[in-house]
Amino acid sequence: MEEVAGIGARRGAALREAGIQTVGDLLLCLPRRYLDRSLVAGIADAPLGQEVILICSVRGVSGPAGGRRGRRGRGGRIPATVTMQDASGVLDCVWFQGGQYLGLREGDTLAISGKIDSYRGRRQMAHPEYEFVLEDTDGSPPLHTGAIVPLYGGTAEMRERGLQSRGYRRVIRVALDGFVDRIADDLDGPIRRRLGLMELQTCLRSVHFPASLEEADRARQRLAFDELFKLQMELARRRQERLSLERGIAHGRSQRLVPALLRSLPFELTGAQKRVLDEISEDMGQGYTMRRLLHGDVGSGKTIVAVCAMLAAVESGHLTAMMAPTEILAEQHFRTFDRLLAPLGVRTVLLQGGQSQALRTELLTAIHTGSAHIAVGTHALIQPGIDLPDLGLVIIDEQHRFGVLQRLQLQAKGPEADLLVMTATPIPRSLALTMYGDLDVSVLDEVPTGRRPIRTELRTPERRERILAFVADRLSQGEQAYIIYPAIEESENDETRSVVAAFDELSSGPLASFEVGLLHGRMTAEERVDTMGRYGRGEIRALVATTVVEVGLDVPNATVMVVEHAERFGLAQLHQLRGRVGRGGSQAYCILITYGEREEEAGGRAVEERLRVLCETDDGFAIARRDLELRGQGEVLGHRQAGQPYFAVADLLGDEELLVAATAEATRLVGGDDTAGEGDGERERA
Ligand code: ADP
Ligand code: MG
Repeated sequence: MEEVAGIGARRGAALREAGIQTVGDLLLCLPRRYLDRSLVAGIADAPLGQEVILICSVRGVSGPAGGRRGRRGRGGRIPATVTMQDASGVLDCVWFQGGQYLGLREGDTLAISGKIDSYRGRRQMAHPEYEFVLEDTDGSPPLHTGAIVPLYGGTAEMRERGLQSRGYRRVIRVALDGFVDRIADDLDGPIRRRLGLMELQTCLRSVHFPASLEEADRARQRLAFDELFKLQMELARRRQERLSLERGIAHGRSQRLVPALLRSLPFELTGAQKRVLDEISEDMGQGYTMRRLLHGDVGSGKTIVAVCAMLAAVESGHLTAMMAPTEILAEQHFRTFDRLLAPLGVRTVLLQGGQSQALRTELLTAIHTGSAHIAVGTHALIQPGIDLPDLGLVIIDEQHRFGVLQRLQLQAKGPEADLLVMTATPIPRSLALTMYGDLDVSVLDEVPTGRRPIRTELRTPERRERILAFVADRLSQGEQAYIIYPAIEESENDETRSVVAAFDELSSGPLASFEVGLLHGRMTAEERVDTMGRYGRGEIRALVATTVVEVGLDVPNATVMVVEHAERFGLAQLHQLRGRVGRGGSQAYCILITYGEREEEAGGRAVEERLRVLCETDDGFAIARRDLELRGQGEVLGHRQAGQPYFAVADLLGDEELLVAATAEATRLVGGDDTAGEGDGERERA
């Protein structure tokens, strides 16, 4: 990289530390944003109350802005004020949420943007966006005089070594002029033309030094497409390889067990359940291995579909394994399967951590001799030493709770076995395409009839007493309730009621005349399973719990959920939690109590705004999409879904169309699938 004039050993090292290894990498480091110089105003002439951009320098700093982090006392709300100047006048920039370390020093030149207003006769801008623009002090003339100036992010390290903004721009200019001609465009010409994407060399020039913002955006799109297309090609190849390798088990359609089960149910399958079951049976009947995602909102009835698939495998003489993320969920599935299937002569066993050696041996023997047909368990299923012979079908429930590794470990127990992963976390289509692009997808898009929408309300703590009285009233009608808390212990934040303290309070106070249970992650698995069992049987009427109840639990008699400190939960998580109620026929309620503002969220209003989404819709997809918008793809993909792709350029929400196009092109290229690109061909898979 040091072949680029302007990059010496020092800058080269800083770039490499930031993961930029080659000139190509360097050219792919896109501007974080652009400054449109045609919009730059002088401080004195800028109109009040409108968004403006100013280029000015720091004249003075007061408050915590220039100081060190450190004193950040509870009440420490001293506004930070930075006085800026340009040739025309002076402006105070103010940050009211005291305490942030801005790191500004006298003489720094910044591009700032925001709205100017007037305060006590002085021009002022609150919470401006700012960017260092001219850090070099070598006095050379501005490199770039066009209207659109690229602003680069970069790391602190890079900034230290003169690679911020202007220094960076110069390096990029040199690299572009000297090297861009040597970069080959790998994208298939016809695809590029069909989608109207820029050619790569033009694109790189335009993305760094565009003539207009519109041109910059077109250039960015081309690079976003490359990123998405690369991933989709990989996924399409994987899928194609699986379909062409005929080494799976062809399970015949169930003639006996599934019809018998369906006759025994007190309800009819929904249209969606029938359709999905058909898709699964068809897939299981093929000679290749099934890799299918069953996607359906909370309460859409995935379990019974899974049971039917399991019966097909059992009927064709194979063992089936189902893995669930928590002990209580595994136990619940075990009880359900046992109740439904024992009458049909199908035996289920439950493998759990902490089982005695004797019991474990007995269960494994049953599996090996074929007297047990279905093995249900948690991670216990993937422990070494657990051998699952003749495995014909693997089901993973709430798969988003497992890492990719765990899924692979279970698959390794029977590489030829068909795989069905189920998720109740609805995710936007764009995410499904990227995360599960190698899987076939079935969607349960219908909830069983007779359900009423859950009434969801946002409340403040002043109403708590009345809310609890309401809970008591529902309990006395024979219904059941969940009361959810975020933490299990008294945290430094004394406002957060711990679940244990709340249990003491509720069971001796407002809910004293009912049996109240406590459930949290610090209890032993045995205690949790026992408590959940008693709640499921209705012996416990109200369950004070943490989010251990978030996934999968099915107690149709539960109708009320109260979530304390709802502001601490994500939208998708609250939607999951709420899905624990309203599973029977009665009207269900979800009451979200918020306790003021969270530090991360700007003011109590934002919290309310965010949570209000839940009151307005029970459409899990809409909620997931909003969650993605609010938290960003890094958060959603990075933490929640370990091992999932993260994009540097592409934006999963904004570039959804591009993603769909990339998927279609990849499918066409890999599979010779000519329905791709017609818009509907990929629907079944998406
Ligand atoms: P999830 O998709 O969230 O896993 P479950 O499979 O636990 O949902 O089903 C939720 C509840 O709906 C269960 O009590 C189940 O017995 C019931 N259920 C499933 N299918 C139907 C149906 N077709 N009609 C009525 N109730 C159903
Ligand atoms: Mg479920």
